[in-house]
Amino acid sequence: MMTQAYTGDGNFGAYGGRFVPSALESPLKEVEQAFFQYIEDPEFLRELKDLQKDYVGRSNPLTYARNLSDTLGGAKIYLKREDLNHTGAHKINNCIGQVLLAKRMGKSRIIAETGAGQHGVATATVCALFGIPCTIYMGSEDMSRQSLNVFRMKILGAKVVPATHGRQTLKDAVDAALNDYIENAESTYYLLGSAVGPHPYPLMVRTFQSVIGEEARAQILEKEGRLPDHIVACVGGGSNAIGLFHPFYEDSTVNIIGVEPAGKGLETGEHAASLTLGKKGIIHGFECYTLQDENGEPLPVHSIAAGLDYPGVGPEHCAYKDSGRAEYHSITDAEALDAFLTLSKTEGIIPALESAHAVAYAMKFARTLSKDKIILVNVSGRGDKDVEQVQSMLYKKDLPLTKEVYGF
Ligand SMILES: *Cc1c(COP(=O)(O)O)cnc(C)c1O
Repeated sequence: MMTQAYTGDGNFGAYGGRFVPSALESPLKEVEQAFFQYIEDPEFLRELKDLQKDYVGRSNPLTYARNLSDTLGGAKIYLKREDLNHTGAHKINNCIGQVLLAKRMGKSRIIAETGAGQHGVATATVCALFGIPCTIYMGSEDMSRQSLNVFRMKILGAKVVPATHGRQTLKDAVDAALNDYIENAESTYYLLGSAVGPHPYPLMVRTFQSVIGEEARAQILEKEGRLPDHIVACVGGGSNAIGLFHPFYEDSTVNIIGVEPAGKGLETGEHAASLTLGKKGIIHGFECYTLQDENGEPLPVHSIAAGLDYPGVGPEHCAYKDSGRAEYHSITDAEALDAFLTLSKTEGIIPALESAHAVAYAMKFARTLSKDKIILVNVSGRGDKDVEQVQSMLYKKDLPLTKEVYGF
């Protein structure tokens, strides 16, 4: 058996940990204790499973992308369809798990931070379901850029509070949410959206997202009678990727590939490739590969996909990288947009721009492989949310594309 990346005490090899103000030590220990207790509790697990089935719509399919595979002429590409979940992405898997935990802990209020608004919407959704009041912190700059998601959260009954400090984006929303948590930890549960942050969040989020890989592994065994040669997922904070990867960890014949956003190009500085170009440092309460300046301040990051522009990455991916269990590559905005259009045209599946990074890498790679190889790709979400953005980029010719090919 391979040694697991989790080395106990909240660490994944040399990464992770809990670097927080002392006022947060004991609330986070309380979350940790509750998580370890309930994740073994049959009643909790049954309620989780029922919600996954009857509310989220699991299990979702593993689809053989026959047209895409034939067009490329190489490996067979299978798609894990997280895009078909309620609310259109994998984020709900984690939100359901954490809100159930919050309820067991007797918390009467949920808070969260959101960048582009996707995690805010997923959190507001589960809070509506459970009738728990929720407050979502969002940078005021992000609120004006993503006004439709703000409105969605309000429809769902959430209170959206603008973070008006600094650059008024995700980092400032995190700070505002942490301040709220310090003030109100007794009554309040902080629902974190990716496999990042202080212990126990990376372990907990991976646990709730592992349903992706557990299903996919059983589904490919049923369809092909064997494991895939390669599994591929996009990496922002890293939750959909680690959810796919973890159940394959000990399958040493399965090659694991994470795909980061190269934005306008790794050499331009406008990207969010934390694993590829980052250095070890502390961000938002944990240690990881991070893009920061010489004072340890997070650098501004860029991706065509708002869900991927985070200047850090989950600690488990950092351990996977160092041990060589996974490889990490990057895909540019233009390549992701190309994959977005190609998957839509060939398979009738419009992927989220985040997921399009994984699809783009799989497309490049499949061509180089023989037809008896299998690549399994996680489609972390659907692209409906991105259609307007793609329209305006293509009409403004904002990216180097290919009028001839796609007919725009
Ligand atoms: C938020 C988001 C991501 C990135 O988050 P991870 O934690 O890296 O999974 C990827 N895909 C979609 C569709 C998202 O909404």
